[in-house]
Amino acid sequence: MINYGRQFIDRSDHMAVKSALFSDWLTMGPKVHEFESEISKICGAPSFVVSSGTAALHCAYAAIELKDGDEIITTPLTFIATQATAMQFGARIVFCDIDTQTGNIDPNSIEQLITTKTRAVTVVDYAGHPAELSKIRDMCNRNNIFMIEDAAHSFGSFYQDSPVGSIADLTTFSFFPTKNMTTGEGGAVSSINESLLNKARLFGRQGVVKDPDQFLVSPDGKWYQEVHRIGLNYRLSDLQCALGISQIKKLQKFKEKRDSIFTYYNDSLSKITQIRLPIKSKNVNPMWHLYPVQVLDGSRNSLFEYLWNLGIRTQVNYIPAYFHPVFQSLGYERGLCPKSEEFYAQEISLPIHPSLSKKDLKIVVAAITNFFGY
Ligand SMILES: *Cc1c(COP(=O)(O)O)cnc(C)c1O
Repeated sequence: MINYGRQFIDRSDHMAVKSALFSDWLTMGPKVHEFESEISKICGAPSFVVSSGTAALHCAYAAIELKDGDEIITTPLTFIATQATAMQFGARIVFCDIDTQTGNIDPNSIEQLITTKTRAVTVVDYAGHPAELSKIRDMCNRNNIFMIEDAAHSFGSFYQDSPVGSIADLTTFSFFPTKNMTTGEGGAVSSINESLLNKARLFGRQGVVKDPDQFLVSPDGKWYQEVHRIGLNYRLSDLQCALGISQIKKLQKFKEKRDSIFTYYNDSLSKITQIRLPIKSKNVNPMWHLYPVQVLDGSRNSLFEYLWNLGIRTQVNYIPAYFHPVFQSLGYERGLCPKSEEFYAQEISLPIHPSLSKKDLKIVVAAITNFFGY
């Protein structure tokens, strides 16, 4: 069986988790801060860890004090967490169509959707390829709204010379097993804005303040702590952070491996006229999370079936969010973002992850070339 994505775990990961398991701290210990500082080195901004990419997004929306009736502009071509976490605060989702070349939000279609209720634009770096971050950054500044980046796919990617994590007001990462590196479940929030990062962290740490300098009431004793807002427990344990520290050491290797798979597919599949391969903009250096192909002759579904029967498990990323019954019941209708819908109808994500062998890749390429009659 060849999967579209999976974790890469070796002996050094085993040893790291085992040693954390025998340490004094299973959670809230030194591994948490060590992992956070390693994440910051990769993403170029102060960061804190959380229990999932979903938790990270929830913290980011908490940080901007999102409330009932606010609007968030975002892409439908993403996992539901991008929207669901904003909707937890009563926000309304305004969908913006994509650029068909990259699958990312179309920067030229955002501004016309901005209203007095718009609080933020949430971009998703589809497949690991950063969105038009600098254009969108400028537009958000001009309109006095926040820029949030769901970088679940793009930990380790660069936009121009800036690492993903150092550009948006708040950037969120996921360490789910299929993502660029893993802690089992896990995620992180980064921001160059200290006050926003503190607000996000406070939400993910149950609103508890332990720093005496910040107390609003004089302390009763050494045990004293204060709750400044209602939050949630989104901590990541030391066991998971130990795995994260071990994984992050391999991130550059993972990136090189993903890059070589990207190049191999590009070279081996370029002759097939029925499909369009992913492109890379000049100004980005992606960590390729997905290898998304567009099937142009209407045969995506049968290609998916064909590969499935050969033990090749591809994926389709994504069903446009508003196709889901939960959005239909809120009055969203099909046809809202035609480019996203077409992208969905044609898309198939080929296997790409560091555990794939040359032989696996040859099997995938042979199957696809065979399917299209080459
Ligand atoms: C995986 C993913 C998430 C959610 O991350 P979890 O760690 O699974 O909660 C959010 N957004 C996108 C685009 C994702 O791919």
